[in-house]
Amino acid sequence: MFKVPTVSAERLPALLRAMPKAELHIHIEGSLEPEMIFALAQRNGVSLPYADVQALRSAYAFTDLQSFLDIYYAGASVLLHEQDFYDMARAYLARAAMDNVVRAEIFFDPQTHTARGVSMAAVVNGLHRACEDARAEWGISAALILCFLRHLSEEDAFATLEQALPLQDKFIGVGLDSSEVGHPPEKFARVFARCRQLGLHTVAHAGEEGPPAYIWSALDVLKVERIDHGVQALRDPVLVQRLAQGGVPLTVCPLSNQKLRVFPDLPAHNLPQLLEAGLCATVNSDDPAYFGGYINDNFTQLFAATGMTARHAYQLASNSLQASFAPEADKRAWAHRLKECFERCYEHDY
Ligand SMILES: [Zn+2]
Repeated sequence: MFKVPTVSAERLPALLRAMPKAELHIHIEGSLEPEMIFALAQRNGVSLPYADVQALRSAYAFTDLQSFLDIYYAGASVLLHEQDFYDMARAYLARAAMDNVVRAEIFFDPQTHTARGVSMAAVVNGLHRACEDARAEWGISAALILCFLRHLSEEDAFATLEQALPLQDKFIGVGLDSSEVGHPPEKFARVFARCRQLGLHTVAHAGEEGPPAYIWSALDVLKVERIDHGVQALRDPVLVQRLAQGGVPLTVCPLSNQKLRVFPDLPAHNLPQLLEAGLCATVNSDDPAYFGGYINDNFTQLFAATGMTARHAYQLASNSLQASFAPEADKRAWAHRLKECFERCYEHDY
């Protein structure tokens, strides 16, 4: 077992920023900054119901998941062409590389775009090209996960899957997102079974605002490999046992949880308890342009609020690398880099 050095509270943020990490829960449409929304609106001649960047930013006063989703879908309406999707993903990946993200598994919502007449190929090809370029330019490994919108029907999800299949070599898995409550995972049992048959990885949002029962059905009915959010799991001790024994990763998003009032504030966040319970929790940004921070902001603000230490940091980064769908050889190399990063703490007296 690697002995994690003691790091002072003042020096901890530098270590959190420097450590190699994977981001496994990022909606690419949620990385659209207001400036880019306005630039794309102008480029594409789309009119927005906000006067300027400031007016849009000040509308980001969410009260719950739905109030966020309403603005999120308005923002995504400026995306029309392959180049728009490329530019959006490139901006995110540049930022992620600066945050020492070595692996990004990026969610995208094709139905948000195909419903507006944008072709599946424009969406997937634009995003995929940005991933390829990011690997070549910055050495960051990136892959795409296609998410079904759960407020729509399973039939719609099947149609979306059909459209995406000719591009199957450009995404590695499927997920389930959008309005959780009232749309339990089992609504998508058949389409997830089909995706598993096709050899796609599977993940699903569950237990963000929804009850532990949704996490159970994501595991037992959809048979997902990771749970996105999952913070409500602690309400069910039997579920916690199941998640711990199965080593099921949870992709937790602290600033999102704070902004959407899943917890009253960051000090009340249950991430320390999730780790304490032996769960494979990770830290992610969810929709960074809307929730006030990218992955390193999530780490530094959460650690400042909860008093977590270098030992937790190492665990979280290690969990994220392990929980990724990257090739095992890559994971081993990143785990080695992570160890080296922490060993440097001794030399540099962080
Ligand atoms: Zn999410």
